[in-house]
Amino acid sequence: MFYRSTRNSGVNVTSAQAIAQGISQDGGLFVPSEIPSVSLDEIKALGEKTYAERALFVFSKFLTDYTEAEIRYCVDGAYNTKNFDTDNIAELAHLFDGTYMLELWHGPTCAFKDMALQILPYLLTTATKKINLNKKVVILVATSGDTGKAALEGFKDVEGTEILVFYPEDGVSAMQKKQMTTQEGENVGVCAIKGNFDDAQNGVKAIFTNPEIAGKLADNGMMFSSANSINWGRLAPQIIYYVSSYAQLVADGEIELGDKINIVVPTGNFGNILAGYYAKHMGVPVNKLICASNANNVLTDFIKTGIYDRNRPFHTTISPSMDILISSNLERLLYHLCGSDDAQIREWFGKLAETGRYEVTDDVKKALADEFYAGCCNDDQTKACIKEIYDEYSYTCDTHTAVAVKVYKDYVSATGDKTKTVIASTASPYKFSGSVLSAVGKDTDCDEFGLVDELAEVSNIPVPASLAALKDKEIRFSKVIEKTAMKNYVFEALGI
Ligand SMILES: *Cc1c(COP(=O)(O)O)cnc(C)c1O
Repeated sequence: MFYRSTRNSGVNVTSAQAIAQGISQDGGLFVPSEIPSVSLDEIKALGEKTYAERALFVFSKFLTDYTEAEIRYCVDGAYNTKNFDTDNIAELAHLFDGTYMLELWHGPTCAFKDMALQILPYLLTTATKKINLNKKVVILVATSGDTGKAALEGFKDVEGTEILVFYPEDGVSAMQKKQMTTQEGENVGVCAIKGNFDDAQNGVKAIFTNPEIAGKLADNGMMFSSANSINWGRLAPQIIYYVSSYAQLVADGEIELGDKINIVVPTGNFGNILAGYYAKHMGVPVNKLICASNANNVLTDFIKTGIYDRNRPFHTTISPSMDILISSNLERLLYHLCGSDDAQIREWFGKLAETGRYEVTDDVKKALADEFYAGCCNDDQTKACIKEIYDEYSYTCDTHTAVAVKVYKDYVSATGDKTKTVIASTASPYKFSGSVLSAVGKDTDCDEFGLVDELAEVSNIPVPASLAALKDKEIRFSKVIEKTAMKNYVFEALGI
């Protein structure tokens, strides 16, 4: 199995190279040359196994240049009860009849990003050893809140790495900010920028693909890599939990082997739902992939019309990890849907960079409509949904997950589809306590830790230990810079 660039199908690298490099030199994203298949019997057999063993199975299909011992080292280091507060790693909870919450937030930072970022440092350091890089790897991260903290926790004090995180000054929740500004570790840096997530992501992409900057790093024995979902090492781990949850539903007798399920994903950068697409095309029986957006509904319009148009106001919402107008991973999907036509991708993404808009072909529009359903909701609808779930099912969910539930309910009303459904639950409600409490009618004006105590009384979910511990931690990073100053910050932080 090799990896190609979405902007140059002639690129041919191993998974270790793709993971070490993060993004292709031409600005394209690495994609597998083919999607490996799994049989229903193989999926059924996974039902008897631990999450780490399921991960080993899926990784061995994609990371064919890693030995079994190397993959085992990675999965055992990441998916254990030192890092996750449940044996199952990803929990599957019943919401209502035939509807299951795939709780992906039992890791150290309480968001689904941990599922990939606990293992990425293992995959990456193993990759650099395999290809004899002998360079310090500098991880640059743009975050809308959750990736930054999850990447910092994954990479802190990992030998041979340095990690620098940029977040939008006013674009993250109080708890998210606290998580990042108090980060421990000798190889970490955190910096706020005056701008939104797209500014941070564009700044990071520009630094990555600037040959002069790359040269300067190389002169100092360093190289960049990425912990954003543009890195294949972020995508691959996310495929596992869709395969795993299907195997679990079969093992639990909730579905028959071969029955189709819907997958609903609250979406921002399109990484999580794209992992669902890969799981489907490996052989997991999936009916619809349901893409849920907040008021930043560029993807809803795109999936419905085939026109991607980012020329619209940017909304700051109560589901900040989805406040994105340029969803990077869509590029991977379109590459697959247009038959690996790299010239076509260069044309569309050239237009996106120049005019903020492109329109796909009729064939791609049809493929989009076959595979996906899309919907969106605003903050008031999100809050109403949190309250409804809380009142009707005694389940407390976070703001992002609530967007998914609301869009799913709209989907059922519109289609009458009764297919059993897995909803990706992407964050612990404790990360967004203020909005969740206000949704269930318990507005208070205490600080983020007072809110946590209050939410503990209202929900029946134990307070995650990692969040409670933040209270006594010192603020280490308080720098705020212009978005044009990111390059200088990087040089300064690296001392070059
Ligand atoms: C990152 C994030 C999302 C969006 O996921 P993408 O892979 O970027 O589409 C949704 N919810 C939460 C809580 C997140 O942290």
